[in-house]
Amino acid sequence: MMLGAKKIHKIYDNGNKKQHVLKGIDLNIEKGSIISIVGPSGAGKSTLLNLLGGLDQPSQGEVLIDGFNLYRLSDRELSCIRNERFGFVFQFYHLLSEFTVLENIFLPAMIRIKQRAWQFNQLKKRAFEFLDRIRLKDKADYFPNQLSGGEQQRIAICRSLINSPEVLFCDEPTGNLDSRSGEEVMGLIKDLSRENKMAVVIVTHNQELAKIADSIFHLKDGVLLG
Ligand code: ADP
Repeated sequence: MMLGAKKIHKIYDNGNKKQHVLKGIDLNIEKGSIISIVGPSGAGKSTLLNLLGGLDQPSQGEVLIDGFNLYRLSDRELSCIRNERFGFVFQFYHLLSEFTVLENIFLPAMIRIKQRAWQFNQLKKRAFEFLDRIRLKDKADYFPNQLSGGEQQRIAICRSLINSPEVLFCDEPTGNLDSRSGEEVMGLIKDLSRENKMAVVIVTHNQELAKIADSIFHLKDGVLLG
């Protein structure tokens, strides 16, 4: 097991009203596996994804990466894992408006490699390949505000893949896409998962989308059913 959840609970404390959203979740995620977690809105899917991705602490239980408790690591170690080993695809993509499409895609990688020319060129090539795959190569030099919402979301997905993450976390990844674009980006994600043994965790209320996974789980009343 590469990433796992061990009896995790999440209780939100909204003033006088406590909400027990996750009630003892166990989950194992292997290298290269694709899993979907489906459930109605409000079931706690995003909450679970955030806990697995090191973005929010569980109230109880452990999230393990290579056997280490993610939330026992120092802030520095945790952010290192998030930046270098995890990738995130959210429903709300935040592209940087003053950078071009191509720059937005390889920006996370630039931060990591620090100005080495040959790596820079390799990354640029990789970013172009991604753009080609999703039929947006012609728009490499556009700025985000010159693109449709769906195009921006596809760029954000390429950005999340540029660092070759070991685990990709997707929260309603095709939320703003038509079916063809949705299939293209999910195809890209699936190929990269096969090629690089990237694990993928998708949370969605879309049953069709969930089917691309090797295994589908249902989140209901705070528990996960396989
Ligand atoms: P889903 O992704 O399945 O739609 P969420 O994980 O976003 O569900 O939310 C599950 C429940 O937890 C909701 O009822 C929501 O109001 C509550 N919740 C989510 N985030 C917070 C938060 N930061 N503070 C308090 N309550 C929250």
